[in-house]
Amino acid sequence: MTGQLEVRGLNVVFDGFRAITDLDFTVQPGELRFLIGPNGAGKTTLIDVVTGRTRPTSGSIRFNGTELRGRREHAIVRLGVGRTFQTSVVFEELTVLENLDLAASFRRRLPSLLRARRGTSAEVAEVLETIALTPLADRPAGVLSHGQRQWLEIGMLIIQRPSLLLLDEPVAGMSRGERERTGELLRAVAKDHTVVVIEHDMEFLRRFASQVTVLHEGRLLCEGTVAEVQADPHVQEVYLGRSSTREAAA
Ligand code: ADP
Ligand code: MG
Repeated sequence: MTGQLEVRGLNVVFDGFRAITDLDFTVQPGELRFLIGPNGAGKTTLIDVVTGRTRPTSGSIRFNGTELRGRREHAIVRLGVGRTFQTSVVFEELTVLENLDLAASFRRRLPSLLRARRGTSAEVAEVLETIALTPLADRPAGVLSHGQRQWLEIGMLIIQRPSLLLLDEPVAGMSRGERERTGELLRAVAKDHTVVVIEHDMEFLRRFASQVTVLHEGRLLCEGTVAEVQADPHVQEVYLGRSSTREAAA
C-alpha cells in the first residue's frame, strides 16, 4: 500500500503571522490518522500546504518519496492526493450517480471521456455501496441530508482513486446517527487508503480514532493514541480543558 506522507520542518507564515511552525508530521501507509486542535491551530493550513493550495515558507512535504512542495494542485491530485473542503462541492441539480460519474471523469483521459458511458460501472456501483447511497443513486443531490451529502463528497473523492485522503471536518454538523455511520465509512475507506481526518469532537475520536495528532497555535503539541493524548497535561490545558469547559457549560 502507498500513501506515506512525510512533512518535515514545515513553516507557513501569512503576512508575518506564523500559521505553522517547525512542524514534523508523518502518516504511514494505510493509517487512519486524526488531526485535532482548537480553532486556528493550523489544521486546514496543513492540508492546504500538502495539496499545493498554500505555499509554505520552508520545509518539505514528501508523498511516497516525491517532493510535493512547489507542485501545482492538479499535479498533486494526479500523484494520488485527494481532499475535501469545509464547504460542499456537490452539484445539486445532478443526481447522486451523475455527481459520481462527473468525479470519475476528472481522472479519465480524453478518449475515455469521449466514449459514452454504458450504464453504472462496477466501480461506481461499489462506491455507491460504500457510501450507502445506492437507493438514492437517481435522486438529485439537492435532496440529500447534510450527512448524505458529505458521504457523496467522500465518494466523489475515492472514485478519483487517491491513495491519500485528507478530510476536513467531515462530521461537522451531522446528527449522532450520521456521525456513527461516517465513522464506519472512514474505517472502511481506510482499509485501502491512507486517511487523515480533521475532527475535534472528542466523543467521535474516542469511538473511531486510534492515532491522534494534536496541533496548537501551529505547532505539534502531542501525538499518540486517544488515551495518551487525553492524558497529556498540555492537551488537557489547551484543548480538552476548553472543550470540557464548553461541554460543562452546554
Ligand atoms: P484550523 O483549521 O486549525 O482552525 P487554519 O489552518 O484555518 O486553522 O488557520 C490557522 C491560522 O492561520 C488562523 O489564525 C488563520 O486565521 C490563519 N490563516 C489561515 N489561512 C490564512 C491566509 N490565507 N491568510 C492569512 N491567515 C490565514
Ligand atoms: Mg479548519
